[in-house]
Amino acid sequence: MKKLVWILVLFLSALLGGADSAPVDWGSVFDILPNPRAFQEVTTIWESYGDYIQRVEVRDGDVAFLVDKTWIYYRDGRLLSERNLHNSHRYDSLFTEYDRTGPVEKLPRGRRLPRSRDLLYAMLGRTEGQVRKHCVAFTFLNHEVNVNRIAAHALRQIEREIYAAAGYDPEVRAFIRDLSVIYSFHRKNVKGSRTLSFHAYGLALDLIPKSYNNLHANWMWSRTYKRYWYRIPMEDRWSPPAAVMNAFKRNGFIWGGDWIRFDCVHFEYRPEIAFTRSSADTPDWMAGAASYFLIK
Ligand SMILES: [Zn+2]
Repeated sequence: MKKLVWILVLFLSALLGGADSAPVDWGSVFDILPNPRAFQEVTTIWESYGDYIQRVEVRDGDVAFLVDKTWIYYRDGRLLSERNLHNSHRYDSLFTEYDRTGPVEKLPRGRRLPRSRDLLYAMLGRTEGQVRKHCVAFTFLNHEVNVNRIAAHALRQIEREIYAAAGYDPEVRAFIRDLSVIYSFHRKNVKGSRTLSFHAYGLALDLIPKSYNNLHANWMWSRTYKRYWYRIPMEDRWSPPAAVMNAFKRNGFIWGGDWIRFDCVHFEYRPEIAFTRSSADTPDWMAGAASYFLIK
């Protein structure tokens, strides 16, 4: 059955792109990857960031994405530049589930490996000026935001969904009315680390309300007076209304309130996680490749 679907995909790709000019040789990509999960991760990267990727091909035994003259290699969920390939053990997979955790009894031990930013660097550059060129300003829920073009389309869709929900949900109306400020593109590190925050790429938003109503909103604030801050139940934490949350999650964002080190105002554009998760629910292992033809 899988083989049959695969042949169909190849046939369609030849039909749509012309076998020689197609930017992706899915046949050789599929052959080299160890399992369907890896294939799904590769197709999700292509779906999520395809506007920045010129080619996908097999190079020296790895699947590689060509992004503005730089080859970025896929290895076990990591995306690494050639220079960084031998350091793959120092990074965590981009696809590792780390959200949807909520309160925990104990903090997990050990250092968490960072996720390589090589793909972001190749797509957007490293300096503030380079990233800024990829950002667009527009109004989102009555506030001026400056966000990366990659996420702008998703945000406009999210805004439409939030306004639609506001039509029948008074909680959503109150949330929009009580928004005090929205932080978007902003050069800063992840709190308490030297890693650049997703805000520095224009890929994160903080939706700050006028009041947190005495609820917990950020682990850094709560830990100053609460020893077991990571056990704080969800009902004691501030959160946007469910309809707002779902609009973001449906459109490729993850929510900082799901993290153990919770940051309840923070949304981050991580379509590779959001999309692999949603398609992980469907039994069809080819969901990634099939939707490629629908989306592109
Ligand atoms: Zn934030």
